Amino acid sequence: LLNQNLFDLAGKVNVSFEFFPPNSEQMENTLWQSIKRLEGLSPKFVSVTYGANNSTRERTHRIISKIQKETSLVPVPHLTCIGSTRAEIVELAEQYWQEGVRHIVALRGDLPEGENSPQNQMYALDLVKLLKSVADFEVSVAAYPEVHPDAPNPQFDLINLKRKVDAGASRAISQFFFDTETYLRFRDRCVTSGVDVEIVPGILPVTNFKQLLKFSAITNVSVPGWMHRLYDGLDNDPMTRNLIAANVAIEQVKVLAKEGVRDFHFYTLNRSDLTYAICHSLGVRESLVEETSLVVNG
Ligand code: FAD
Repeated sequence: LLNQNLFDLAGKVNVSFEFFPPNSEQMENTLWQSIKRLEGLSPKFVSVTYGANNSTRERTHRIISKIQKETSLVPVPHLTCIGSTRAEIVELAEQYWQEGVRHIVALRGDLPEGENSPQNQMYALDLVKLLKSVADFEVSVAAYPEVHPDAPNPQFDLINLKRKVDAGASRAISQFFFDTETYLRFRDRCVTSGVDVEIVPGILPVTNFKQLLKFSAITNVSVPGWMHRLYDGLDNDPMTRNLIAANVAIEQVKVLAKEGVRDFHFYTLNRSDLTYAICHSLGVRESLVEETSLVVNG
C-alpha cells in the first residue's frame, strides 16, 4: 500500500537540495558533479549554506553566482546574521538582489567557537525583517521539531517560528530528525498555533554515524535506539553504511509522503548518490518531463 501511494505521487513531489561551500579543489569537483547530476531532477531550488567566517561567506556567494550563471537551477543563499553588522547584511542582500537572487534562507547562525560576544543582538526574526526591508525576497527560515537547544521551552520556540512567518517568511525548513512521529506532532502544533506555511522536512541520509552522534548532541536531535543498532559494527564499512543510509531515508520519506508531505529538503553533504536514489523512490525522475510531454503531444 505504501509503495502504491508513492507511485501515485510521481510528478506531485517537490524537492530541494542543500549544499555547503567546499574548501578544497577536490571537494569543489565533487560539489559540481553532484550539482550537475541532481540538476536533472528539476528541484524547486538548491540552497548553499553560509559559514561563520569571512572566507566561507565569500565562497557561498561565489557558488551561488556560478549556479546562477551555469545551470538552470534556482540558487538560494543561506544568510546568517549573528556575526555581521546590519550594514554588511544590507550590502550583501542588495548585491544578491541585483544579481537576480530572489529567495534567501534567513538564519541567526551560531558564533564561531571561542567567540562569545556577537556583533549584534540579532535573531533570525530581525534578519527576516531586514531582508524584507531591502527587497521583496522570498524568505525561508529554520524550524526545530525537537526544539532549538537555546530555546527556554518548546512554546517559546514555536512562537519564535510564528513571528518569523508573520514577518514574511513563506517556508520553514526543518532541522533533520529521525523519529518521524516527532516531526508530525510538530507539524500539527504549527497548524494549531497558526503557523500557516509549509514545514518542509529536512532529510539527512546518514553515512557517517559517528559524526552524526556528535552533531546531534549539539543540535538537540535524538538518535533513536534502532539507529544505533542499525549502524552497530559498521564503523569500517562505508559501503554498507551507504546502503543503510539510503534505506533509512527512503523509509522516512515514504512515511512522510503517506502523511501528506509533498515538499522535501535534502541535506546532500555535497554528494548526489543517496539523494538521487531517495528522490527516485519518491517518483522524482529525470525523464518525467519528457514522458509527460510525450503523453501530451502523443
Ligand atoms: P532563531 O530563529 O533566531 O532562534 C535561535 C534561538 O534563539 C532559538 O532557540 C529561539 O527560540 C531563540 N530566540 C529567538 N528570539 C529570541 C529572543 N528575542 N530572546 C531570546 N531567545 C530568542 N547555520 C549556519 O551557520 N549557516 C547556515 O547556512 C545554516 N543553515 C541552516 C539551515 C537549516 C534548514 C537549519 C535548520 C539550520 C541552519 N543553520 C545554519 C543552523 C542555525 O543557524 C542554528 O540552528 C542557529 O543556532 C539558530 O538559527 P535560527 O535561524 O533558527 O535562529
